[in-house]
Amino acid sequence: MMNVLVLGGGPAGMAAAIAAARGGAAVTLLERNDRIGKKLLLTGNGKCNFTNLDLRTERYDCDAPALIEEVLEQFPPEAVMRFLEELGIPPLTRHGTWIYPHAEQAAAVLNALRTELEQLGVKIVTDARILGIRQNQKGGFAVKTEKAEFRADRVVAALGGAALPRTGSDGSGAELVARLGLKLQPLRPALCPLRSAERENTFFRASQGVRVPAALSLWVDGKKVAEENGELQLTKEGFSGISVFQLSLPAGRALQHKQRAELMLNFLPDLKADLTFFAKRSVQPFATTLEAYGNGLVPKNLWLALLRRAGLSAGMSPTSLRKTELAAIAEQLTAARFPIQGLAAYDKAQVSAGGISLRELNPNTLGAKRMTGLYFAGEILNVTGPCGGYNLHWCFASGLLAGQSAANDEVLR
Ligand SMILES: Cc1cc2nc3c(=O)[nH]c(=O)nc-3n(C[C@H](O)[C@H](O)[C@H](O)COP(=O)(O)OP(=O)(O)OC[C@H]3O[C@@H](n4cnc5c(N)ncnc54)[C@H](O)[C@@H]3O)c2cc1C
Repeated sequence: MMNVLVLGGGPAGMAAAIAAARGGAAVTLLERNDRIGKKLLLTGNGKCNFTNLDLRTERYDCDAPALIEEVLEQFPPEAVMRFLEELGIPPLTRHGTWIYPHAEQAAAVLNALRTELEQLGVKIVTDARILGIRQNQKGGFAVKTEKAEFRADRVVAALGGAALPRTGSDGSGAELVARLGLKLQPLRPALCPLRSAERENTFFRASQGVRVPAALSLWVDGKKVAEENGELQLTKEGFSGISVFQLSLPAGRALQHKQRAELMLNFLPDLKADLTFFAKRSVQPFATTLEAYGNGLVPKNLWLALLRRAGLSAGMSPTSLRKTELAAIAEQLTAARFPIQGLAAYDKAQVSAGGISLRELNPNTLGAKRMTGLYFAGEILNVTGPCGGYNLHWCFASGLLAGQSAANDEVLR
């Protein structure tokens, strides 16, 4: 019987262990925490958005889209939904295409996975931090943990990325595996808040805590590269909210390549706010001062901070505005540009981009091309999707494929 060691008890490792055990292997899963699935419990605000009916390869940030295509072909959203439905988790659709468990509880998904692992006889070893992996001359593997050394014919590495390190994944897993001679693309936070440049800090001190609907666009070296619409949250050092998280992926890539990234914000996305709109507003009876002029357009804190950015004082009379001053108001409200200085730290990120290069893998099995018997699944790989269930989908799809391959391969001794 094939012995498979699964490294990491996140969704990718659990899916891999289930698939390997269903394929007839004797499976042991190693996890450093005192329990498995710690991060899974936090997903989707505790509701676990596990796939998306509109999965598109091109929305994944990676270094081999053809491999993603291949995996998604074998494991499309329907396959992941079926996998969980068979474990008692019917799907529920939100926002048109985002899929959650019907009970909207990540804990339900974890319970179902844990029950299946138990029923399949997977041995779960917790409190087992992995310190090193080596391949012996006969082709098998020895995995050293703080507890003991484990041996197996096959290994599935599903040690996660570096986001939210308190859940157990701190990026060290990818480094451990890279020591075997595999190429590691540098990690960076993704699906996270963005930090604005230092000089804008007075703006953020005044407007932090504000939540507004906004149209956002990301500009890299002066060219628009992405757009989002949705609730924008202003924080002490920059921007947050789902639409910002979505833009953090291309923004992070730009910053990694030392390109100039800027966020352009339209705080009046639902109004036809052209120059005539702003000029008309300045002669309305309610517009007694500039402070009153903005009343009802955006929250007051934001308006006062935008006025300061435009270099105008709140007590000024709108009727005395020069054309350039009116244009400055229009710009701040509909096309305010903020240079992006960086990404928030890993403790505020949902995932990390980067990881073990997909070019190292065989797309049909997710096995390492240069090391027979070593397979990969989940966030440890250089694959990052946007919000909306893309990342958990990748974990389940790649986990099922890697686990199945590890159990099926011929033993080379
Ligand atoms: C707050 C939050 C919300 C999210 N919401 C969603 C969502 O709704 N939808 C979505 O698609 N994605 C979401 N994600 C992303 C998703 O959680 C991850 O993509 C997913 O958990 C990655 O799974 P994984 O199994 O690859 O890694 P992980 O879940 O990180 O699991 C890896 C496991 O390996 C263990 N490990 C690491 N190093 C070692 C070691 N040296 N020795 C032993 N064990 C080790 C870790 O303790 C961990 O348990 C969210 C993430 C966060 C942080």
